[in-house]
Order: sequence, then C-alpha cells, then structure tokens
Amino acid sequence: MSVVLFTLGGTIAMAGAAPGGVVTRLTGAELTAAVPGLADLAEPLDVRDVRAVPSADLTYRQILDLVDAAGAAVAAGATGVVVTQGTDTLEESAFLADLVWPHQAPLVFTGAMRNPTLAGPDGPANLLAAARVAAAPAARDLGVLVAINDEIHAARFVRKTHSTSTAAFASPNAGPLGHVIEGEVRLLTRPPRVPLLPPVDPDRLAATRVALHTATLDDDVDLLDALARDRQGLVVGGFGVGHVRPALAPVLGALAERMPVVLTSRTGAGAVLRHTYGAVGSEADLQRRGLVNGGLLDPYKALVLLRLLLATGADRAEIAAAFARHG
Ligand code: ASP
Repeated sequence: MSVVLFTLGGTIAMAGAAPGGVVTRLTGAELTAAVPGLADLAEPLDVRDVRAVPSADLTYRQILDLVDAAGAAVAAGATGVVVTQGTDTLEESAFLADLVWPHQAPLVFTGAMRNPTLAGPDGPANLLAAARVAAAPAARDLGVLVAINDEIHAARFVRKTHSTSTAAFASPNAGPLGHVIEGEVRLLTRPPRVPLLPPVDPDRLAATRVALHTATLDDDVDLLDALARDRQGLVVGGFGVGHVRPALAPVLGALAERMPVVLTSRTGAGAVLRHTYGAVGSEADLQRRGLVNGGLLDPYKALVLLRLLLATGADRAEIAAAFARHG
C-alpha cells in the first residue's frame, strides 16, 4: 500500500532568489526530501511529477486529467492521493475534482503560503499533514479534502481568505472538518458527499465558456452585454444577500432568457437569500427575472459548477436543480 503524490507546482515547489524572484523549480523528490518525518510514515510516498507551474496556469482539463490519474492510482491499490499545487486556484481545482471524484479513497490537496527560501516555510508541514490524511481510514468517503496548516477542510467549503498568511485557508460557512494533532488525523464532523456530476467530454468542456461579473458601487451597466457575448452562462457575484444596482436588473433578466445566470454573494460567506428583499435588483426581483439562486456557493465555485454542468449538456431545469443541491 502507498500514498501517491502528484505535483503540479506552486509556491511549495518554488526556489530562486532576488532580484528575479522565486519560480517553480523543485521536483517531488526534492520536495519530499525536505520533509522531516515523511519517510517514517507507515505508507511510502509514490511521487509523480505532473507539472511545475504557478497555479494561475492550470486548466480544468489538466485537473480532470489529474483526477483520472489519481483514480487509476487508487484502482491500482493506492490508499489515498495527495496533490501539491499553488494555493491561488486551489479552492477551485479542489472543488472541481470533488464534483467528479467517485472513489472512497481520500484525494487531498495542499500547497504552501511561504516558499522554501523563506524562514519558516509551511510546505513541509502541509505535505506531511496531507500525506497523513491521505493514508487515514477516517478520511475515507469524504470526497476531496484540503489539508493545510494542520486543518482538514472539505473542498466544497474551503476558501483562500488571505494573500500571505499561513492560516489563509478557511471554511467560513462550515469550519474545518478536522485537524492533524500530533500527527494524528482527527475528523470531527462528516458531511454527506456532494452528488457527483456525470463524466465530462474534454473538448466540450474546453468549448464551454462562462463569465463572472462582480457587482460594484455605481456598476458599469454596459459592461455586461460585452462580458456575456459568446458565453453560455454567467455568474453574478452580487452585493450582500444577492443584490445588484437596479439598472442592472433588466439587463440580467434579458441575459437570463438567453443563458443560465447564477446569483451568488460577493461577501465570502453566507447564502444568497430567496424572499426577503423586494426592490428592483434585490434577490427576489432577480429570481423573478429568471436568475438561478447559487445558495451558499461563492462566485468562484459557482463558476466551476456552472461550467461543468453546461459541458455535460445539462438543461436549465437540471442546472437549477444542481444549484439547489450543491448550493
Ligand atoms: N502564486 C502561487 C500559486 O498559486 C501562490 C501559491 O502557491 O501559494 O502558484
């Protein structure tokens, strides 16, 4: 039995120095060599270098290929899988993987906020914690997890909430599922798994284009039509409980006749409401105009779900039902 480690790059694997700055350079073997205690784990790490890029350079296709490779590793007997990647897009890639990960074995994402050239880099501790979680029987049947800063988060809830802190990852709506304490994996709560999406055709996914508009004070109404042109769907990050400037409401209503438009909150936590406010541009008004309620999903996760749904050929009713389930 082993835990398989797939490396994608990110700060955890960066090296170099001023003035050029650090770049992704370390191999998985170099990464693991820097982790005290990793060699003593009951399950050896089987390291597979996949990419060495900043996470801004990752694509849906690459993440879905990774999920396939991780699934093959599990089918071949791996107890669990760890993925190291940059933290910038980790909340999206982990959620994307969670929507299609059918296995009981844990698929655990991690990364680092402080690169290996800094005092107190967090990558080694995060990698060790992720390997422990991937090997833990208690972490089975929880879907895709994120192990970072000795906390264990569900991919569906986790957010990157700080640009530099080693405590950047949090699950504002749910809290962490558990912790790694003195090397022991302690799960405190076990949410039910999210319903899986059907397999996605990669070419159809690549051709599926969705846009995100975040509401702002004195919003530019003309922007929206241009943004949504040649797109098959739109996510709106509304103010507060799901509001936009009144002038935007009819524009969004017209767009919702052409494509699914999903309403989320730009606040970072909490749900879009359904029937509290009634003004033009309020959540109730926008739903009357055909917008889909994104529930507790933040705009970025909503974008992932919408794009996958569209790529699987889901119709409007199926999209609304999926957001009711996942949101
Ligand atoms: N910019 C880096 C990346 O996402 C940040 C990190 O890894 O933490 O690749």
